[in-house]
Amino acid sequence: MESKKAKETILNSFHENNNSHAFLIETNNINDCLTDVIDIARQIECEVDGDEHCTCKICNLIKNNNNPDLLVLRRLDKDDKEDEKIRDIEVSTKSKKLDTLKTEITTKQIDGLVNLFRTTPLVSKYQIYIVFEADKLNRNAANKLLKFLEEPNPNIIGFFITDSFDKMISTIVSRCEIYNFRYGTDNILSLLDITDKEYEKYFDQTMKLVYDLEHLKSYELITNSKNLSKKERNEILFIFKLLKRIYTIKFENIVYNYYNNLEFSNQVLDSISVNDISILSKRILLIDEIISDLNKNSIRDMSINKLFIKWV
Ligand SMILES: [Zn+2]
Repeated sequence: MESKKAKETILNSFHENNNSHAFLIETNNINDCLTDVIDIARQIECEVDGDEHCTCKICNLIKNNNNPDLLVLRRLDKDDKEDEKIRDIEVSTKSKKLDTLKTEITTKQIDGLVNLFRTTPLVSKYQIYIVFEADKLNRNAANKLLKFLEEPNPNIIGFFITDSFDKMISTIVSRCEIYNFRYGTDNILSLLDITDKEYEKYFDQTMKLVYDLEHLKSYELITNSKNLSKKERNEILFIFKLLKRIYTIKFENIVYNYYNNLEFSNQVLDSISVNDISILSKRILLIDEIISDLNKNSIRDMSINKLFIKWV
C-alpha cells in the first residue's frame, strides 16, 4: 500500500475509535517509515487537530524527542549505554549509523519499556512504543513483549517496523494488524518494486503467466521434472515474487482503491479479472507456498504444476 494512504487508514481508525493496539508495518524504506510512524504517534496524541504545524504541548514534546510516553526501541550500538538509548528517537542523525550496527534488541530494553509503561501515560492520551527493525528482537525480548500483545491495555499502542515479515517471530505477527508502507510508487517500476533491468527481463514473462492463469490455460504437465540450476531457480523465483506482487496490487486496489488513478497501473490491474478478495488472498497464499517450495527444492515443473492444479 502506498505509504500516505496506509498512514491515513491507521489515523482514521484512531479517529473512529476503532484502532488496533499493535501494528506491524512492512516497508521498503525503514527510515522514512519510522519518521511516518512517529508522526502518526504525534497526530494521535495531539491535543488539537494533528496539523503538521501544531504547537500544542504534546506536539512540541514529540518534535523535540522529549515525550515520556513515546519510546523508540532499536538495536544498540556496542558503545551505547542502554539507558540512554531507550528514549532515543533522533531518526535523521542516527539513521546512517544504524547500517553498521550488528546487535539485537535485547530483553533489558524490553524490561525498561515494560517498567516505564507500568503506570498510566504521563502527559499524553496513549503510551506508544515503536520497535524499529522489529525483526532484530531477540527471541527472549520478543517473548517479553508478548505481555503487551496478549493482554492489550487500551492506553498502550505498539508499532513494529520491519523490511520483511518473513524475518519476524510469528507469535508477534499473529497479534498485530498488518500494513505495508510502500514509498515511491510514482511509476510502474516503483509500483512493482523492481529495477529497469528486472522489468526488461521478467515483466513480459510474468504477465504471460498471469494471462495463462487468468484464462485457465491448461498448463501442459511435464512428467520429466527438470532440476534447476541455481541461476534458473533464482530467475523463476523472481517471476513468482513478481507474480505475488501483481496479485497483491490487485488485492490492495480492491480493498482500498489505491491504484485506480494511476494510469501506469492499469495494465497490471486489468490483467486480473477476479475481484473477489477471498479468492485473491487464496491465490496470493498459494504463490507464497510455491515460493517457499522453490526455496526448499529445485524442481521447476513440480512447482509450476502445483500452481496450475491448485489455482481454481
Ligand atoms: Zn498538537
